[in-house]
Amino acid sequence: MVYLLSEEPLERLVERAYAVKTAETGNTVSLRAILEWSDICSKNCLYCGIRRGNAAVRRYRMTEDEIVAAALKAYESGYGNIVLQSGEVESDGNTAFVERVLRRIAAAAGGSFGITLSLGEQTGDVYRRWREAGAHRYLLRIETSDPRLYAQIHPEGCSWERRRDCLRSLRREGYQVGTGVMCGLPGQTVEDLASDILFFEEEDVDMIGMGPYIPHPGTPLGKGVPWTASDRRARFELALRMIAVTRIALGDVNIAATTALQALDPEGREKGILAGANVIMPNITDPVYNESYGLYAGKPRSDTGTGEDVQSLAGRLEALGERLLCGERGDSPHFKARERPCRAGTDSRRGK
Ligand code: SAH
Ligand code: SF4
Repeated sequence: MVYLLSEEPLERLVERAYAVKTAETGNTVSLRAILEWSDICSKNCLYCGIRRGNAAVRRYRMTEDEIVAAALKAYESGYGNIVLQSGEVESDGNTAFVERVLRRIAAAAGGSFGITLSLGEQTGDVYRRWREAGAHRYLLRIETSDPRLYAQIHPEGCSWERRRDCLRSLRREGYQVGTGVMCGLPGQTVEDLASDILFFEEEDVDMIGMGPYIPHPGTPLGKGVPWTASDRRARFELALRMIAVTRIALGDVNIAATTALQALDPEGREKGILAGANVIMPNITDPVYNESYGLYAGKPRSDTGTGEDVQSLAGRLEALGERLLCGERGDSPHFKARERPCRAGTDSRRGK
C-alpha cells in the first residue's frame, strides 16, 4: 500500500482501482444530498474553520421546519436520501431536536428515503434514539488512525479512543457506519495513510469519506501556512491515491468523492469517481449559509438542490460512462453482504 500510495504511476493506479469499482458497484454512482444545518460546535479541532474558538464565524441553526422542508425538496428533486451534517453538540435539547426532525422527515418522505447523520461524537443512547427515529447511516471520520497524530491536531481532552468507540457503538446500534481521514495533515506519513486503510478494514466499516486536508487561515493548524498551486495539486493527487488504494484494498464499500476534492479541482468529484469512488454528495444547503459553514478555505458553494442540478450531474457522469442512481437509498453493498443471513464462512470481500 505504501508503494501504491507514493510510487505507482497515478494513471495505472487509478485504472486498476476503477476496474475494482466497476466490478463491485457497476457503472453506477450513488447520489446523496448533504444539508449543513448548523455550524454551532462545542469542539475546537485545530484544523477546522467552524471550531468553537473561531469568533469570526457567524453561527446559525436552521429551524426544524426549514430542515424538514429542505429534505422534502431534495426528495422531490430526485434524491433518494439525505445526509444531515452539523457541528458537534451534546445536549438533551439537541438530541430531542434531531429526533423530532428525523421523525418528521421519515413520516413525510416514507421509509424508502434514506437518512444519514454526521453529527459527531455522542453516547450510545443518543445514537440509539436517532436510529429509532429513522436514521440508518452515520458518518464519523476518525480523521487519522494514529492516536499520536490525532492528539497533535486536537486540543487536550479530545480522545481518539472515544472516537473509535463511537464507531463501534454506532455499529452495535445497527447503523451502516462510515468513517474516513484527512489526507496530507501536517506530520502525516504515507505509512500513516496505509495504516488508516488497515484501520478501515479492522473496524469493518461500510462507507468511507476521505478528502484532502485544506488549511484554514483562521485556525491554529492553518494559520500562516503557505498554500501554493503546487501544494494544491500534490494534495489533490494524494487524496485520489487514497481513494484508489482504499477501493483496491476494501472492494465493496461505499466511497464518496467528497466536496474537498472539488475545492482543489473543478472536476475533482468526477476524477474521484474515476479513481474508485462511487458516491457523490451535492450540497443542497441554502447558499446564505455557505460562508458560515466554512470548514476549510475555498470550500465550494452549494449545488442548489433543484431537479435540474441532478440532471446536469447525471449528464456529466453519463459522459464518463456512469449512471447516476437517482431516487435510491444507495446502501453500502458491504453492509448488505454483512447483513445477509447465510454469511457463515463466506467473508464477502475482504482479503482481495
Ligand atoms: N462535526 C462533525 C461533522 C462536521 S465536520 C464531525 O466532526 O464529525 C466534517 C468533516 O470535515 C470532519 O470530519 C473533517 O474531516 C472535515 N474537515 C474539517 N476541517 C477540515 C479541513 N481544514 N480540511 C479538510 N477537511 C476538514
Ligand atoms: Fe466541530 Fe466537526 Fe469542526 Fe471538529 S471537525 S470543530 S467537531 S465541526
